[in-house]
Amino acid sequence: MRLFEHEGKQVLQRFGIKTPVGCIATTSQEVKEATAALGKPVVIKSQVLSGGRGKAGGIKFAANPEEAKAASEELLGKFIKGEVVKRLLIEEQLTIAKEFYMGFTIDSVAAEPIFLMSPEGGIDIEEINKLAPQKVGRRLIDMAEGFSSYMVREMGAEIGIKGKDLVILGDTAYKLYRAFLDYDALIAEINPLVLTNVGEMLAADAKFELDDDAAARHPEFTIEGRIEGETDLEKRARQQGIRYLELDGNIGIAGNGAGLMMTTVDVVEKYGGRAANFVDAGGARAVPGSGEAAIDWWDSVIQIVLANPKVKVFFFNLHGGNHRGDEVAQGIIRALKKSKRHIPVVIRLSGTRQEEGRAILTRHGYNSFASLDEAAKAAAHLAQGVND
Ligand code: GDP
Ligand code: MN
Repeated sequence: MRLFEHEGKQVLQRFGIKTPVGCIATTSQEVKEATAALGKPVVIKSQVLSGGRGKAGGIKFAANPEEAKAASEELLGKFIKGEVVKRLLIEEQLTIAKEFYMGFTIDSVAAEPIFLMSPEGGIDIEEINKLAPQKVGRRLIDMAEGFSSYMVREMGAEIGIKGKDLVILGDTAYKLYRAFLDYDALIAEINPLVLTNVGEMLAADAKFELDDDAAARHPEFTIEGRIEGETDLEKRARQQGIRYLELDGNIGIAGNGAGLMMTTVDVVEKYGGRAANFVDAGGARAVPGSGEAAIDWWDSVIQIVLANPKVKVFFFNLHGGNHRGDEVAQGIIRALKKSKRHIPVVIRLSGTRQEEGRAILTRHGYNSFASLDEAAKAAAHLAQGVND
């Protein structure tokens, strides 16, 4: 999960890293008032999640409230790299003496955090790397030893940073490392880290990417408003803790486990069918183990799948170990009863309590398969027969 710049800057402030004075605005009138309140020339920054806003025209400078209002009218509602601008960060302009790059991320090869620093800030780290690789300092961080600001001092000689700058950079790096760890970040980056003409060090930008698997530890940042192009059904599923993704076919699939569902998508395709969705009913939250809660859970998963109007055939595939066939069967029946759709249903059920489960299905008039191959073939065949 990416943080917006203004959120990232709040994190930095919490760890004692200075950021320019500023505030968030959503209308041009607010921008005008904010600029008047600052009483200084301002920079107006589009709050979008993609980087490189500067180059894409998402950052404007203004000398007074009137100019700021006009500039913000150009930004609000505009698309920057496919994202619509809804909020602006209004900040005092800095007088830049030097721009540094500083960041922590995870080196996937070494499986350790890595610290990167450069005196050539203000452009992307990839670009700095191309233009002046000798100006990018790198240090892997041994988690047992931790990060120490001596690494920054050591790096200075290699990349051409000296004196007082190194001391203040060391201090900032240590604070950024604490933020990186505390927020379970995959990326914590300040670019540019600005040294002003009066010798103050401020983060002019902030980029944080947090580990989604640790989202529960940081409830102040929700995923809402960060996902572009999410469908209404995908959103509804996510809010129920179900990982659901719409695909372009017409066979609605459900069952247990992300792996089995990927297999289901493939096997259906092998027989000429196309899945309408992927769903991981295991999802982000723990699936109720058994009993009424488990039946309800399957009911709600299946209802999501059936709510997609593109679905013309429903294919349920269970290969149950943890899930009891009889309860899954009851969940299927419950969901199908509630659904107003009258579409062909194909069920494959195997594993724990399969006989009981299949008997329940038969009693309600649904045939079921034990073999995935045969079931997938049947689903694909039925889907070819429907006119959409
Ligand atoms: P990005 O393009 O999305 O990375 O946005 P940044 O926040 O990094 O801003 C892009 C560039 O605008 C920076 O590298 C700076 O050179 C410049 N910039 C940003 N804020 C200020 C400011 O307050 N004063 C001045 N003079 N330049 C700024
Ligand atoms: Mn930047």
